Amino acid sequence: MTVYLDMIFLLNCLTDAAALYVTGRLSGLPLERKRVLAASLLGGTYGALCALPGWGAAASLLPQAAAAAGLVRLAFGRREAAVDGNVLRVTARITGDSSDISTPAMKKKVTQALTEVIPLDAPGDFNQALMELGATVCLPNGAPLCEKCPAAGFCRAFQEGRTGELPVKAAKKARRVEERTVYLLFWGDCVALRRRPERGLLAGLWEYPNELSDESGWLERWGLSAALETAGRGKHIFSHIEWRMTALAGELESPELPEGWVWADRRALRDTYAVPNAFQSFAQRVAARLGRF
Ligand code: SF4
Repeated sequence: MTVYLDMIFLLNCLTDAAALYVTGRLSGLPLERKRVLAASLLGGTYGALCALPGWGAAASLLPQAAAAAGLVRLAFGRREAAVDGNVLRVTARITGDSSDISTPAMKKKVTQALTEVIPLDAPGDFNQALMELGATVCLPNGAPLCEKCPAAGFCRAFQEGRTGELPVKAAKKARRVEERTVYLLFWGDCVALRRRPERGLLAGLWEYPNELSDESGWLERWGLSAALETAGRGKHIFSHIEWRMTALAGELESPELPEGWVWADRRALRDTYAVPNAFQSFAQRVAARLGRF
């Protein structure tokens, strides 16, 4: 327990420092001043930080992790490469590497390669120089200022006329849009729920029954009968899918449900069956029938 409390404290130190860096309050300062400030912000915790189990995994979850890691390295002069988007771009151009820079494999490769060449006596300067080269000279979107660049003499992208091609960054897949119909099926003061499959989206969670809207006749397939009316629309965006939902609501003619479905009253909705936020748009409609849960 103590170790996790320590970890939370250390993460707070890091995110405070990173926030200062990101908001620019450190970024305009001379390197030495920045190093002193970063070291004081981090309070000499780097050794303790590295000793904490699970630190690596936790760091990868932090939104400011790259900036925080950069600060740690800057503050403590570790011989470790700080690889952010700028550094990936600069490195891919200088080495003429056409690998996709958005992949973990490319980040690992660049980190390893830079760690081998980072100077022992000034690792912070090296990291800082690469980051600032990317931020101020080797700009993204095919518009690097090569004529001003100190790396132009050995940059393969510049010498081979490939600055517009590099770095390679695979386009994100377009999010799939699904039109779904959500069935709010009531019996007395209960609503019908079913459990999602154990694998995939919202795995194992309870939901109001729903299906793709381009297929119909679901009530009959489920062996149910009800007079349904339109009960609102909702939208939920997942990382790769967008659900656009239309709700139909009605009272079933019988309490018999398909196997595995359950009836949930408002207490059960609150205490037992946590319906995911994806269906939040319909919570009000359900609450209007069952009472607030
Ligand atoms: S020469 Fe051009 S492409 Fe190469 S690192 Fe410098 S700015 Fe980037």
